Amino acid sequence: MLTDSHAHLDHERYAGDRDAILRNAWTAGVRTILTIGIGDGPDTMHRALDISRQFAGRPNTPRILASAGVHPHEASLADEAALAKLDGLLGEPEVIAAGEIGLDYYYDHSPREVQKAAFVQQMEIAARHRKPIIIHCRPSDDSTNAWDDTLALIEEHWAATGLGGILHCFTGEWEHAQRALDAGFLISFAGNITFPKAQPIRDAAARVPLDRMLIETDAPFLAPVPNRGKRNEPAWVAQVAEQIGTTRGMESNAVAEQTSRNFERFFNIR
Ligand SMILES: [Zn+2]
Ligand SMILES: [Zn+2]
Repeated sequence: MLTDSHAHLDHERYAGDRDAILRNAWTAGVRTILTIGIGDGPDTMHRALDISRQFAGRPNTPRILASAGVHPHEASLADEAALAKLDGLLGEPEVIAAGEIGLDYYYDHSPREVQKAAFVQQMEIAARHRKPIIIHCRPSDDSTNAWDDTLALIEEHWAATGLGGILHCFTGEWEHAQRALDAGFLISFAGNITFPKAQPIRDAAARVPLDRMLIETDAPFLAPVPNRGKRNEPAWVAQVAEQIGTTRGMESNAVAEQTSRNFERFFNIR
């Protein structure tokens, strides 16, 4: 059994074959997918919930849960209406987390101070709903700037809620993983862990306690080796489990089972 803790099933690149993609996932052993509700911006952040409902109860289809949030790229669009929309979506039972939210200093699509403000405001809304947060973080080249700021904001505005969250697509230093673990977070590894230059990510995956780890695809992005560069899909979370198995010297099946159990325990679902 596999769980893909982070995919963008609402992406336009699945418009023609979403059913087939979900059947592929089922065939590969994927039983649960968390689809991320950022849309193309706040106006479409409800699409993840729509997909969760559309496919609920379908045979040979993974269970689909949803999140909602304003991605740091679109932080400058996080106005009152967008935050009210997030507030409404977090009230729905299928929407189990706020995200992906955080800081992206690589693209700087929104000014950094605006990103920080939107991040903090969304943490406050999530705290009211008692739902965890999913963190997107990408620093500038050869820097840990966004990780440093993200962890500082989590420690200041979130850790005390005790709700924890997920660091998605982890690429930070061990210090950042440790601080997130201390704040009750799980660490999720994506397909980039299979890339030749990703030894630092593999080193982190070797150290994160097995019961605090998740795996994800971030589909349609970041397809793992041997499909690097192609459109990613949830079925390929199997390659992430395999890589972590190799890195930790364990069966990939055991990685799949443990990370699925971690997801269910964290979100209190079965
Ligand atoms: Zn992300
Ligand atoms: Zn994502």
